[in-house]
Amino acid sequence: MGPYAKGWKRFRRIEWSLASVFLGLPLLYFVGKIAQMLGVNSEILGAVILSAWFVFFIVSSIRYQLFRCPRCGEWFSGTWWYNLSYFARKCVHCGLPKFSEDGN
Ligand SMILES: [Zn+2]
Repeated sequence: MGPYAKGWKRFRRIEWSLASVFLGLPLLYFVGKIAQMLGVNSEILGAVILSAWFVFFIVSSIRYQLFRCPRCGEWFSGTWWYNLSYFARKCVHCGLPKFSEDGN
């Protein structure tokens, strides 16, 4: 384990939380359909659950975009005027490759 392993572990957790929220939407759809079949038919409940999902999605996305590089501490994927997001293969500030534990 290199010096940046802990930072990448944190990044993977953020990445998984974003993926889980994103893939949770179809799951919510099916849960809603099942609830509808069982006789629960509340538009307000559906709106509240969907709004909560949207808030979780926005928060997860922002955490993903603003992840700080384990080496230099700057935003890994962007600066104030651009953000490569998922497509950043290395830190845009210090060049640390994504998931590199020892800096090479
Ligand atoms: Zn960096």
